[in-house]
Amino acid sequence: MDSSNSDKQNNNQSVNEDPAGVDNEFCPGFKDVDAFVKYGLGTVVAATKASASLPQVGDEYDLYRSFPGFQEFCETQGDGLLHCMSQIMHHHGCRAHMRDRNKLTGLEERFDLVVDSNDVILEKVGILLDDAAGVNRSQQPVMPAGFQPPKIVVSSWNRKGGDSGSGRSSETFRLLQAKNVTRPQLKFREKVDNSNTPFTPKIFVKPNAIKPLPSCRSQRPEDLDVPAALADFIHQQRTQEHVEDMFAHPYQYELDHLALPENLLSKPEPQMYKPLAETKCSFIDTLEDLVAVNEKLAKTSEFAVDLEHHSYRSFLGITCLMQISTRDEDFIIDTLELRSELYILNEAFTDPAIVKVFHGADSDIEWLQKDLGLYIVNMFDTHQASRTLNLGRHSLDHLLKLFCNVDSDKRYQLADWRIRPLPDEMFQYARADTHYLLYVYDRLRVDLWEVGNGQPALLQMVWHKSKDISLKKYMKPLFTEDSYMDLLRKQKKAFNTQQLTAFRLLYGWRDKLARQEDESTGYVLPNHMMIKISDILPKEPQGIIACCNPVPPLVRQQVNELHLLVQQAREMPLLKVRHAWGHAMHWLFLQPEIPLFGPHDTSRVSESDIPSFTPDGKIYLKSIVNINYVDTVKDPGHLTVAQQKACRVVESFQNPFRMYLPSNDIHISKNAKFDPSTKIYELPGITSKCCDCAPASFSE
Ligand code: AMP
Ligand code: MN
Ligand code: ZN
Repeated sequence: MDSSNSDKQNNNQSVNEDPAGVDNEFCPGFKDVDAFVKYGLGTVVAATKASASLPQVGDEYDLYRSFPGFQEFCETQGDGLLHCMSQIMHHHGCRAHMRDRNKLTGLEERFDLVVDSNDVILEKVGILLDDAAGVNRSQQPVMPAGFQPPKIVVSSWNRKGGDSGSGRSSETFRLLQAKNVTRPQLKFREKVDNSNTPFTPKIFVKPNAIKPLPSCRSQRPEDLDVPAALADFIHQQRTQEHVEDMFAHPYQYELDHLALPENLLSKPEPQMYKPLAETKCSFIDTLEDLVAVNEKLAKTSEFAVDLEHHSYRSFLGITCLMQISTRDEDFIIDTLELRSELYILNEAFTDPAIVKVFHGADSDIEWLQKDLGLYIVNMFDTHQASRTLNLGRHSLDHLLKLFCNVDSDKRYQLADWRIRPLPDEMFQYARADTHYLLYVYDRLRVDLWEVGNGQPALLQMVWHKSKDISLKKYMKPLFTEDSYMDLLRKQKKAFNTQQLTAFRLLYGWRDKLARQEDESTGYVLPNHMMIKISDILPKEPQGIIACCNPVPPLVRQQVNELHLLVQQAREMPLLKVRHAWGHAMHWLFLQPEIPLFGPHDTSRVSESDIPSFTPDGKIYLKSIVNINYVDTVKDPGHLTVAQQKACRVVESFQNPFRMYLPSNDIHISKNAKFDPSTKIYELPGITSKCCDCAPASFSE
């Protein structure tokens, strides 16, 4: 922390030297945003470093932990941190009882809370940045400068280096609309399978197999004119194979039995990378060239791999480019053109004698499976190595700077990688992602060896973590009746029943259309627009259009369908569903057939969590979100008095209510009379007030 404190002092000094500047301070002690960001970043980096140097889980930590002084210190610091986090989360309106041990059971729940809160905060930051730049929120991909008629959507806040005065336009990120890119899907030999069925591995031959491919997988279901998953299913039915074989990781057995050669567990001699100018770099887009690459790879003992992927104009995303570097050569492979042929690389990719070096392979492993039917046996992930060494920052840029003194330019990370021919700037960018990686791999192994006191333990740890990543299986996003709740929970919206219904219906419409049209859900209808429509519930189709800026093409095209969905939602009786318990209440309203409140395990429900009715029909409830939904039946005799009371109240909550609940399809309001003066809905036999009249004492 010392360095950042002195940063701040320096900063203060520079402010003090400029008396005129004091009035214009961005915030106390900081003359402008840059100074503040610099200080903030310094502090964060110092804190990250400090936390990385704490005793690690395992022996070291256990040893320290045996000292009461250390224990006490941990508790105090831990409480302080949780308090601090709670405050920040509270400030951003997120669910924030991080410190309350009664309300949260474990690390996992806390972690979820932090992840959710980060989403909320970052979403806000995004919106504010866009607002500041006068930009409409869109997730358009980045295109290289000058690639298309420069219809620049934004260029103020995203300038590199903040040198806005000098007009260095080449330093500007350009967010251009990718209107003229042909859809690569149209040329794919095998049609993309967006059906709502689980992903089955695209593998029909298995090089380097110890355990052969199950027979159900070993022939292509080519003559069936049905989606791949369905063809697989039919085939499997015919051959009576086990379902597990269909979905298993094809190289699970080989990975489980992977033994590393001794030479990989000793101190290596780093081999310097060849200068870019002296290295041959080929663009591979024919089968013939790919076969040649495969032969070269098979002769190496290690090579580096990276992928570029596009996810905006496709439902499942498309792997657009594969970069491979050996010690002598770089290859940029067109994975759009060679999509159906790339499986031949499995020969080298699954050869346990050849190391494949990746940086941050989690997504790559899934993309390789999803699009190309490729698997990796024997991987070294430099990101995992960086973490194991506690380097503080683990991005590729950082490693390149640290070991190669190369300033990488991440400007094209989010470029539209479908563009062909590939512009030279993107080609060079892609190449740099793997060109230096084998040298980085050498350097990291030296450090792992040395930090590990000349023992292979740290090296082994990295191989082990990398193997776990290779074992990851691609999972297709599957739509279920309540997938929309996951998204809604992240939005932290306090929706009433009508809004919830709209959100659910829009979510279903969007998912179906995205699969059908092979577009991302973000392209069909971005989350923030879906929230806005659900929030406002426009009466007219024009109102739906007004919620969207810019209007997504498919929304414009289907505005009448959308309008019908919103109308259907508006016919719901209005019942308030409040923030803290939105999730649970939602279940109650929209899934009435689920026996939510029965003789369930209420062991996690405290009295204050129990909803109660008041004579005026208002529902009071503090926090119901922690009710355990699992149907474990408890003998009432084993319940405490409070728990028994809880059960009774919960049951009394359900019974009078349920009979008036809509069916799952929600067509209720026909009999409901709404009195605009009192804002009360009268359903036969029950009175419930509209949201505006609900008491303010719901939330915590
Ligand atoms: P990289 O491994 O950095 O070359 O990134 C590979 C792919 O990951 C890119 O082509 C993008 O599709 C995606 N990607 C990388 N960084 C981001 C990011 N910050 N946000 C969203 N997608 C990303
Ligand atoms: Mn990558
Ligand atoms: Zn890359």
